[in-house]
Amino acid sequence: MTKFSDLALDPRVLKAVAEAGYETPTPIQAQAIPHALAGKDVLGIAQTGTGKTASFTLPMITLLGQGRAKARMPRSLVLAPTRELAAQVAENFDVYAKYTKLTKALLIGGVSFGEQDKLIDRGVDVLIATPGRLLDHHERGKLLLTGVQIMVVDEADRMLDMGFIPDIERIFSLTPFTRQTFFYSATMAPEIERITNTFLSGAVKVEVARQATTSTTIEQKLIQFTPSRKDKSFAEKRAVLRALIKAEGESCTNAIIFCNRKMDVDVVSKSLKAHGFNASPIHGDLDQSVRTKTLDGFRDGSVHLLVASDVAARGLDIPAVSHVFNFDAPSHPEDYVHRIGRTGRAGRLGKAYTIAVPSDEKYLTAIEALVKQPIPRGEVPAGALEGASDQPERAREERGSSRSRSRGPRERGAKPVEAVVAAAVVAAPVVAAVEAAPEQQPRAERPRREDERRHESRGEHRSEGRSSEGRGEHRHDHRGEGRSDSNRENTRTEGRSDQRGEYRRDDRRDHRGSRDNGERVVGMGDHVPDFILRSFAISTVTADEPEELAATGSEG
Ligand code: AMP
Repeated sequence: MTKFSDLALDPRVLKAVAEAGYETPTPIQAQAIPHALAGKDVLGIAQTGTGKTASFTLPMITLLGQGRAKARMPRSLVLAPTRELAAQVAENFDVYAKYTKLTKALLIGGVSFGEQDKLIDRGVDVLIATPGRLLDHHERGKLLLTGVQIMVVDEADRMLDMGFIPDIERIFSLTPFTRQTFFYSATMAPEIERITNTFLSGAVKVEVARQATTSTTIEQKLIQFTPSRKDKSFAEKRAVLRALIKAEGESCTNAIIFCNRKMDVDVVSKSLKAHGFNASPIHGDLDQSVRTKTLDGFRDGSVHLLVASDVAARGLDIPAVSHVFNFDAPSHPEDYVHRIGRTGRAGRLGKAYTIAVPSDEKYLTAIEALVKQPIPRGEVPAGALEGASDQPERAREERGSSRSRSRGPRERGAKPVEAVVAAAVVAAPVVAAVEAAPEQQPRAERPRREDERRHESRGEHRSEGRSSEGRGEHRHDHRGEGRSDSNRENTRTEGRSDQRGEYRRDDRRDHRGSRDNGERVVGMGDHVPDFILRSFAISTVTADEPEELAATGSEG
């Protein structure tokens, strides 16, 4: 077996690696590092969790050796699709380069240009960036890429998903053609293949096996059920999720719960909290400081359940996750592989549950075709669906907000009083947290804002070739950075819908059981639902507000 000391790495790197506690190189490291040190371009087919970050960082540090960086001319460049991934690479760099004098800068959205400019002006050896933010700096004339000797593209397939490929091509064209390139992707889509054929030369391809097809440490279970009614699907899935988590008991030390839509991430998280679970959401609309705090909490164990979107969770290095729950069957089969790969790492045992309803059949077929095996079927835990509507939501209605009082028994049905009293106690703590949520805006505004946001997002996507949650890497954003950040994840979904025609706006409404008869109505058409005419003075909003909004809209 190869040892780190066999790899001709700089002794200072070897010392840092030993201190990090690594004994032997992972397969991608053992395969890639010798070629990288020999000056070759490397095409790495590997995903997070394989040690791929060190497989390019360690040779980079060795190759950059002693040289000195010139002002505004970084000597190497690492591109990552999201802020978190870029920050993770930067952390890795700090660990492995601690005994060298190499300098680095991290260029990501959410950090002021001024501070980043200062670092670049001083000269950096390693620049780690998201593509949009890097181009922002370049276009402001603050950064020259003509001194780049080594360029790394990490998670290229995610870059493709997020619409970054035009940016990547542009960045390649701004660097010298003599540069050495390390290019990493979990999959080789035709578009990725085209880029590698264009920008890599004589590359050595190193590949490590996909986790989902080889890992025996992940116990997978598919939990299928048919909702009692289409518009109950979302609430019943939440009930099944709670029952699954409870059934796992103490063996569920922590878990990531994946939702397909970031809107659902919030609702599922709030609903879990309302039911006494320790859950926090993470998605691209949340402020960077909130995301960092949540992740830190998840890593240190103070957050037990992380409810996440694919984009937000992608590539995050959280080694010890006991469970993954797919609240939704992922609509892109490769996301299944990435999601369940969050558990069962480094020889640990992990469990991955996927909750599915009949409309997910097509996704399941695609997933099973990709992983080349059926997902073992499991049972809905006994009693999970009894009284499956969320109790706190009912409790609030009974406590008598003006909105809930207006709903008749036709909409919600009569409820036993005892259940309501018990649930009210559970619901209480969540109210304050939920009050700050964006869903609290006057309802009349919501359709307009959604339309507006989508419209803007599409504009960004088409004009700039980026369709992601991109996190602040928006070049010509006249609306301010916070705003641009907040649209990215939606935009990513739109990007995909353009490509594959799967996700349409109506999917979100379908999911919540609203009507879609295919007519195109602008805004609310001629119809003024009666809830618009009511006052909004009451602030007793519950965890399940967004679902309720959708339901009200469809019934109005
Ligand atoms: P990555 O695939 O780069 O996200 O790395 C996944 C995890 O593996 C990180 O927590 C690394 O610190 C860890 N790691 C990287 N290389 C090794 C190694 N040779 N031995 C043990 N752990 C490693």
